[in-house]
Amino acid sequence: MDDDKLKDDFHDWWTDAARAVGLSPSDYDVLQGTFFKVLSAMPETEREAFFENRPHIICTPDYGFALCIWVAPWPRDDLIPVSVIFLRHDVIKHKSFIDTVAHEIAHIVRGDHKASGGPEPGVSYEHEKGADDLSESWGFKRCYGKTKLAKLKSHPRA
Ligand SMILES: [Zn+2]
Repeated sequence: MDDDKLKDDFHDWWTDAARAVGLSPSDYDVLQGTFFKVLSAMPETEREAFFENRPHIICTPDYGFALCIWVAPWPRDDLIPVSVIFLRHDVIKHKSFIDTVAHEIAHIVRGDHKASGGPEPGVSYEHEKGADDLSESWGFKRCYGKTKLAKLKSHPRA
């Protein structure tokens, strides 16, 4: 793998995509460093798929846990997908922060955030299990335990 290419791609994307509101400089370093670590650990084809999506990273004190959303501008004829990962400040301080980041990156690579039709029983199960399977293949810990995952099978928003 070409290290310089990864650093260039990362820098191009990060300066364009990351918005951190009111984050301390040291937490900002952790945020940036963690994304870099996860992307470095991924196979190149999956990393390219992530960069092609150019997801926005929005980090605020109190908004969201970690989600990916689809933003549609008006009019709908000009529907444009915008990938966004929201991260609340305190998530950065969790021990498992890197696993959370890997899980959210996996959703982007899989395209789960673009799925339409709203949650149905089993759909979020497939997405969450799939994201964990993928991030685990890069060497990160799963975010969903068996119990939490089993709940998703019957309750879409559990
Ligand atoms: Zn998820």
